[in-house]
Amino acid sequence: MSGITYGYMEQYIKNLIPENEGILKEMEEYAIQNSVPIIQKETAKFLELMVSIKKPDSILELGTAIGYSAILMSMVTKKSSKIVTIERDLNMIDRAKENINKYGFDRSIEIIHGDCMDILENMEGKYDIIFMDAGKGHYNHFLPNCLRLLDKDGIIIADNVLFRGMVASKELVKRRKITIVKRMRSYLELVSKDEELITSVIPMGDGIAVTKRRNS
Ligand code: SAH
Ligand code: MG
Repeated sequence: MSGITYGYMEQYIKNLIPENEGILKEMEEYAIQNSVPIIQKETAKFLELMVSIKKPDSILELGTAIGYSAILMSMVTKKSSKIVTIERDLNMIDRAKENINKYGFDRSIEIIHGDCMDILENMEGKYDIIFMDAGKGHYNHFLPNCLRLLDKDGIIIADNVLFRGMVASKELVKRRKITIVKRMRSYLELVSKDEELITSVIPMGDGIAVTKRRNS
């Protein structure tokens, strides 16, 4: 149980999604064996859908890990979008590079090594989709730079925003996680209450928040 929705509901929705084959399947197996927190099955499907609707020229990802979600998004756009992805862990970067090169995504996916906090500060350009999936305790700090880097019609998709349900329920909060939980609540309040933004929080996977500018 994820603490987000009913176990039976989660299982039913997961079971509707066909198994991946080939490269995605290989990466999923590696992630399970090595406890790498790649996006959940239904979150992956949602991301595919958003990328397919949005047809982005450029995507910014926070948190590469082994390159699973970056490769997934690149597959949807048939490598036609430019994906920049930030990761601070060099072991993860080695693994991601291996996957990216092995499957020929090296022209469409660029990895930047560093902490999102520092890297975002110095980034330029505009992105059609920003996928936030690193540093759960800092989404609220990343937000101003993400909004600066977001195209006028761009969307921010943030993963893990309900954090095993802890964000929504005092009873579920583990003492060690209280800071992350408080900051995640602050992120969700920021994006929900800002009148310039439209945000929808979806209790799927570990919780997803989709944000867009309310262009008037
Ligand atoms: N998006 C990936 C999973 C990312 S897991 C996928 O679904 O395939 C989160 C990753 O973010 C981890 O690899 C972790 O090392 C990295 N990370 C955590 N905090 C970070 C930070 N502040 N800056 C950069 N990377 C960070
Ligand atoms: Mg995640």
